[in-house]
Amino acid sequence: MKFRRDFDVIVVGGGHAGTEAALASARCGANTLLLTQNIDTLGQMSCNPAIGGIGKGHLVKEVDALGGVMAQAIDRGGIQFRTLNASKGPAVRATRAQADRQLYKQAVRTALENQPNLALFQQTVSDLIVEGDRVAGVKTQMGLNFTARAVVLTTGTFLGGKIHIGLENYSGGRAGDPASIALAERLRELPFRIDRLKTGTPPRIDGRTIDFSKLEEQHGDEPVPVFSFIGKPEHHPRQIPCHITRTNNKTHDIIRSGLDRSPLYSGIIEGIGPRYCPSIEDKVVRFADRDSHQIFVEPEGLNTHEIYPNGISTSLPFDVQYEFVRSMLGFENAEIVRPGYAIEYDFFDPRDLKSSLETKHMNALFFAGQVNGTTGYEEAAAQGLIAGLNAARLVQGLDSWCPGRDEAYIGVMIDDLITRGTQEPYRMFTSRAEYRLLLREDNADLRLTEKGRELGLVDDARWQAFEIKRASIAQLQDDLKKKWVRTETAEAGQVEQYWGKPLLREANLMDLLRRPEVDVKQLLSFMDSAEDMDPQVAEQVEIQAKYAGYIDRQQTEIDKALRYDHLRLPEVIDYNGIPGLSNEVSEKLKKQRPETLGQASRIPGITPAAISLLLVYLKKKS
Ligand code: FAD
Repeated sequence: MKFRRDFDVIVVGGGHAGTEAALASARCGANTLLLTQNIDTLGQMSCNPAIGGIGKGHLVKEVDALGGVMAQAIDRGGIQFRTLNASKGPAVRATRAQADRQLYKQAVRTALENQPNLALFQQTVSDLIVEGDRVAGVKTQMGLNFTARAVVLTTGTFLGGKIHIGLENYSGGRAGDPASIALAERLRELPFRIDRLKTGTPPRIDGRTIDFSKLEEQHGDEPVPVFSFIGKPEHHPRQIPCHITRTNNKTHDIIRSGLDRSPLYSGIIEGIGPRYCPSIEDKVVRFADRDSHQIFVEPEGLNTHEIYPNGISTSLPFDVQYEFVRSMLGFENAEIVRPGYAIEYDFFDPRDLKSSLETKHMNALFFAGQVNGTTGYEEAAAQGLIAGLNAARLVQGLDSWCPGRDEAYIGVMIDDLITRGTQEPYRMFTSRAEYRLLLREDNADLRLTEKGRELGLVDDARWQAFEIKRASIAQLQDDLKKKWVRTETAEAGQVEQYWGKPLLREANLMDLLRRPEVDVKQLLSFMDSAEDMDPQVAEQVEIQAKYAGYIDRQQTEIDKALRYDHLRLPEVIDYNGIPGLSNEVSEKLKKQRPETLGQASRIPGITPAAISLLLVYLKKKS
């Protein structure tokens, strides 16, 4: 047998973007190769051992609804699960899980190793093979050439990566892994716009040196939430608590005393860091009036003493790290097992991408994850899935697909990136979505799984489970409409108790469910068939009933706003020849080459008047 060197799709990098890209491409039937620096770091969490959270949880559920691995991996690796914003409306509720790093990585690797059409190979890619205006494969560090019809690049923080601790710095992709220097240099020769960003991580602590008796304990939710739509609580390993401590005035004084040796404040680091995940030195300087910041003391796993102190990311010199860590309650004798550090790395301007995540400058080359200016495992995974899917579709001669802003947070993120670009690491928030009442975590499968099935991403087992759930929702809605409660009966008495008002007229259970005071669990007790009702089904019926008016209104808004949004702009278009368009607008459009009228309208500086002129032009042409 000959060693195989030719594939449909090659994915470079086995992080969160790369693993989802490789799985998606292979699931769609493309012969796929995943090339990564080190097979032992497949699915590795470079920073915090956690998946999900506000906005990010939505992305994980959407990736899951489209057949991705992230949610199933965290169900198998999660050691504490919580629903954030549980007391708020369903649109902003979000699942978050603390992970056992090793279990999470193992689950990702198992999925990769068992995926048909997917080969894994450990090699560092040092160059791209380019033929004319398209990529045709990659070269590796040991001189092997691999050819392919499409390549997905997902090299995270590794391109030109530089690690900083105090005034010391050295080349690295993340602690313990080498940077990608040759590839970074090669990419800088190609016509991509490249800039630098930075991110950071806290020192890790030996848990045996922390006095947990002084700390506040925080437990996960009961019943324990699950991430995947096909996940079950029994997939979870043992659940354990987290703890909370705080910084104090002494901590802040120590940090201030080290600022003259901070790479951030001495101007050594030029890249911009994540605004919503600032380093502790940033927090102390920017919020000088605050005398304390909350620190979550998170376990790194079930079989390790290592602790992740969430909230003290830092690149201060090691002696300052050591001293300020020991100034916190419960940490008086703490020993650091890994120093905190910051990393600067190259990223590509995402405005040079199509919505498929194929680059505009080189055909068949796709970028996904941190290389596109995002931060976070979830943002990377979501892009990886879309890039892997579209790489496979390109090879198969099929049209690309990316959800719209009205269909998924994935669509919001990609549209934001390709129309507006980013000056700082981009992370997902629910506030970025204009239609968030429709884009909830709970209905991600109802929004996307059917499309995923059509695209070849969803396997038979998931599809069957989805069909059963969808039919059960319809059945329960029907049953609730058919079940009537008459006045002055025992059932009416119960309803009045829940509702706090007399039942004046006969009503069916669906009408009653619309009342804010009445919840679905109470009403299910009136029905014989409800004993083993799937809680996901009951929750869905309740949300749809309670928010029906708002949801309908949002749908009408979407229909109006999106009338012309998907109208495609020709690939070659002479913007200077469109009457009335200013030079500034024409130049912007020429540079960014939007694919649709909607994308054009969201480019900063493109006015509604310019969009009307484009619309007139398109109508005349058609
Ligand atoms: P990565 O997970 O970085 O994966 C890249 C993969 O590519 C790796 O497997 C690597 O081995 C491989 N690779 C690289 N070069 C090559 C090559 N030439 N050939 C073959 N394989 C290659 N995110 C947050 O949301 N909040 C934070 O606070 C935060 N802090 C961070 C702190 C640090 C120090 C680091 C390093 C990252 C931090 N992140 C944070 C970012 C988070 O880790 C990334 O967003 C996420 O891992 C991106 O996933 P990815 O798949 O794009 O890249």
